[in-house]
Amino acid sequence: MYEYEGMYVSGKWSPTSGPEIEVRSPADGELLGRVSEATAADVDVAVEAARAALERGPWSRSTPAERAAAITALADAIESRTKVFADVVSAEVGSPRKWTTFGQLATTLGVYRSCAAIVPDYEFEAKRPSVMGGEVVVRRLPVGVVGAIVPWNAPLFTAALKMAPALAAGCTIVLKPSPDAPLGLSMLSQCIEEAGIPPGVINIVSGGVETGVALVAHPGVDKISFTGSTGAGKQIGAACAQDVRRVTLELGGKSAAVVLDDVVVDSTLIKGLVTGVMANNGQICAAQTRILLPRSRYDEILEPFAAAVAAMRIGDPAERDTEVGPVINVASRDRIETAVAAAIEAGARAVAGGSRPEGFDEGSYVSPTVLADVDNDMAIARDELFGPVAVVIAYNDDDDAVAVANDSEYGLAGAVWSADPERATRVATRMQTGSVSINSPAPLDFGSPFGGFKKSGIGREGGPEGIAAYLESQSIIL
Ligand code: NAD
Repeated sequence: MYEYEGMYVSGKWSPTSGPEIEVRSPADGELLGRVSEATAADVDVAVEAARAALERGPWSRSTPAERAAAITALADAIESRTKVFADVVSAEVGSPRKWTTFGQLATTLGVYRSCAAIVPDYEFEAKRPSVMGGEVVVRRLPVGVVGAIVPWNAPLFTAALKMAPALAAGCTIVLKPSPDAPLGLSMLSQCIEEAGIPPGVINIVSGGVETGVALVAHPGVDKISFTGSTGAGKQIGAACAQDVRRVTLELGGKSAAVVLDDVVVDSTLIKGLVTGVMANNGQICAAQTRILLPRSRYDEILEPFAAAVAAMRIGDPAERDTEVGPVINVASRDRIETAVAAAIEAGARAVAGGSRPEGFDEGSYVSPTVLADVDNDMAIARDELFGPVAVVIAYNDDDDAVAVANDSEYGLAGAVWSADPERATRVATRMQTGSVSINSPAPLDFGSPFGGFKKSGIGREGGPEGIAAYLESQSIIL
């Protein structure tokens, strides 16, 4: 049992006035731990602590090199607890344990360490000639107090994509985990202390939508950095606009893996397609859920892909050989099952999965599913499902593949597979999406910008662009 009573503010856990939140395993409903909900009054206290640390604490006088060292120390503290973090995140999210060390932890460390590496040389101040004669000093100042709101699917990683650049910029933070997966992020408090990050620089308040709404509306918050669904993102964007509060939105996706007609059908391709859609039980914003196959080689690629998905081992996420665990909760399972049934009714053909796995009535398990013969106009190809479901769409030629890939309200990630990387890159450059990998399912590079075109979001995380999102520019005209 993991118990985190209260909220983590000014370097210590103190009581909240909200009720207890029970965190249960999506695998079997077992009680894993408890946190406390922060009410609007508690959010006030947390924001006040962050503001005091921003304006009066040692952090406000820190140098870039000191902040880089603090980020590295935070990464070291997390890395030294890799096993316990992987255990708790796997349990609360349902991520297969054998994937979690890489998928949830190594990725998190990659974000902190790549950010720390660029901070010392980042141009926080530059002198440039003025077009009116004389000179201008352009300063890049911390945006201020950051409200960071994250989803449950990759709690440590999505928080790192906000905290690393916010710390690098010299901001202070109030972090709100999702009530579905708050345990790993609560445990982070030990690492914050061990890293010597001054009290008040990182504060953690748990809770659901109401806690998030209070943070978004708080006049003491200078910037909201949100990762979550497009629906919630629209509300948060609108609320921030009311107060001209800065906002970054990292939202949903319906990314395409485009397989070109010269591809070599081997285990690299098949494993890549499977990983691209099924990792974390299909609950990754950048999941490549639409598989675009050339009509000329459709069956030749579909068959081994469907066979590989059908062979995936479903089970308790804690077990070493599990490849697909449960989705986050029963409501999510039911939503996915309904959408799959509707797609089959509309003409899709289930070539793997398609119904609840046998022997898994307890917990929120969904069979890894491949739906073939899908038309890109069908709801299953348009709406984000956030579960282990791939849809396979046939296309005629490269132009058609690009048109289908771009025919989506989302634009977060994608992949192109080809025997000719230059041809694949040409196709990638025509895709209206934030990142595209060539012959790999990797959805992002830690040192490079990641984020959405269209309704997948506004702004970027990662790399120098990620740090810029936490800075305000000021020109001093000499
Ligand atoms: P969600 O939108 O329901 O919730 C995300 C977080 O926002 C939670 O902490 C929630 O409590 C809070 N929240 C919800 N509504 C709010 C509101 N009106 N005001 C303030 N806070 C609010 O999403 P989820 O179910 O936790 O996560 C799944 C979604 O996250 C998927 O759509 C997925 O694509 C997206 N996601 C995006 C990225 C990315 O980088 N683009 C990464 C991971 C997940």
